Amino acid sequence: SAIIQSNFIHNIIDEDLKKGTYGQKVYTRFPPEPNGYLHIGHAKSICLNFGTAIKYNGKCNLRFDDTNPVKEEVEYVESIKEDVKWLGFEWDELLFASDYFEEMYQLAVKLIKKDKAYVCELTPEQMREYRGNFDTPGKDSPYRNRPIEESLSLFEKMRAGEFAEGQMTLRAKIDMASPNMNMRDPALYRIVHASHHRTGDAWCIYPMYDYAHPLEDAIEGITHSICTLEFEAHRPFYDWVLIETEWNNPPKQIEFARLEMTNMVMSKRYLKKLVDEKLVQGWDDPRMSTISGLRRRGYTPSSIRTFAEKIGVSKANSEVDISLLEHCIREDLKLTAHRKMAVLDPLKLVITNYPEGEVEYLDAENNSENPELGNRKIPFTKELYIERDDFMENPPSKYYRLFPGNEVRLRNAYFVKCEEVIKDDAGNIVEVRCTYDPETKSGTGFTGRKVKGTIHWVSATHNVKASVRLYDYLFVKSENDEEGYVYNANSLKVLDECYLEKSFEDAKKDDKYQFNRHGYFVVDTKDTTQNHLVFNRIVSLKDSFNK
Ligand code: ATP
Ligand code: MG
Ligand code: MG
Repeated sequence: SAIIQSNFIHNIIDEDLKKGTYGQKVYTRFPPEPNGYLHIGHAKSICLNFGTAIKYNGKCNLRFDDTNPVKEEVEYVESIKEDVKWLGFEWDELLFASDYFEEMYQLAVKLIKKDKAYVCELTPEQMREYRGNFDTPGKDSPYRNRPIEESLSLFEKMRAGEFAEGQMTLRAKIDMASPNMNMRDPALYRIVHASHHRTGDAWCIYPMYDYAHPLEDAIEGITHSICTLEFEAHRPFYDWVLIETEWNNPPKQIEFARLEMTNMVMSKRYLKKLVDEKLVQGWDDPRMSTISGLRRRGYTPSSIRTFAEKIGVSKANSEVDISLLEHCIREDLKLTAHRKMAVLDPLKLVITNYPEGEVEYLDAENNSENPELGNRKIPFTKELYIERDDFMENPPSKYYRLFPGNEVRLRNAYFVKCEEVIKDDAGNIVEVRCTYDPETKSGTGFTGRKVKGTIHWVSATHNVKASVRLYDYLFVKSENDEEGYVYNANSLKVLDECYLEKSFEDAKKDDKYQFNRHGYFVVDTKDTTQNHLVFNRIVSLKDSFNK
């Protein structure tokens, strides 16, 4: 099921296999930087890279691109491993770019010796100024033609920690007049006096991403290096690095459009900001676009893989509607989740002609579309809860639920007729009193008369109390904002007095259910305790996705 549909990248691979460019090898990698938690965009890349390896019977590595010590942490490494495994993929090798630091350094020395790199002492501001811009060629650095020996010796001293951050860099010697800005003598190494989460203080110079990435791919024998479209203009430098460091059969970079979605923000930097500013509970807040957030929200691995499959892979940037992702989880849970009754905003309903103290166990199907899930018993009693908005004292026309004098069906139970409304001193409705008709019991084939409304209910004496969290999108459309979306301060609604059917007693963390009429819900894995269930709404029942 992890096998993905064919796409333009697979056409390139098919060509390479025919020509034998890499023999019959197909090696890919998923190369996250451990500077945050993965998001749904990364899931697209994971499904593509691992799915491609599975399709071609090749290999896919999980490789941490840990070349920037300031932003990287072990916590992120661990979360990324967990997320990849949870999505259902197994890496061939678990690798770290930092393991290649010595080899990368030696290759940089080789470039200096070939007169393809030099140590430059321009300040960052001067570098920017010398680089020029799209319509003006850059200027050569005054250090560009310093003797090879001098660059070799300075580079060694950089490594030995003799200079301050920003004092010098190692740069490639390519072409300051290139129309491609990435080819105007890009930096290969910078000085960073910071401890690295794996190499500690062994290094104080670190390779730049654009220099490190092609080498990481080549060292691992990657054949097809799949990345997002913004790296297209970096490809000439990717190729330059591999040609000048003299690899046979260098890997091939192929770019695809990154996933963008409505109502979802995909930048780790921005997600980190939400976490740091406590605008969310953490990286795994169920409103987040992170894989850990989606997991806690109740998304299943297969729903996300199906989503990745459905959006496909292309060269054209586009924004995917979030309703497609929601459609995928509804489809996944439709036949597997038990459907039960839960009252989220309770109003007491008393059946005046039902015997005091009596408990009747009524039959209910666990999933009306999947008989294989069987039946359960639901306790029915004199006092019940119904949903506050299933009753109206003065209803508009076409309101078919409960109102004075009207009769409705209580799901899986009996017809009840509203006889009386009880209010408190302030005039709030606190209770409705009904009579029931024992002849109308569900499943007995009663046909004497019909009612237009069916409402759900929970016994007021035999139930499970719970908290339920309803979510809106963390980001909503805004005409005024240039990004098109703004942070939604009202994206979380917590309901603390919810009553669920008695059978929820057995609910365990991460169990998923349909609450009749309310949507799909998951038992929260973090805030649920032995004595108190907390549910997150995964998605409502209404499917707005139609294609
Ligand atoms: P972000 O901008 O969110 O921090 P990134 O590209 O900096 O993402 P990396 O850790 O470098 O994060 O990403 C690992 C891999 O995931 C890369 O190959 C990258 O191209 C891919 N990736 C990141 N974001 C997306 C996305 N929105 N859609 C598809 N692939 C993505
Ligand atoms: Mg990156
Ligand atoms: Mg980034």
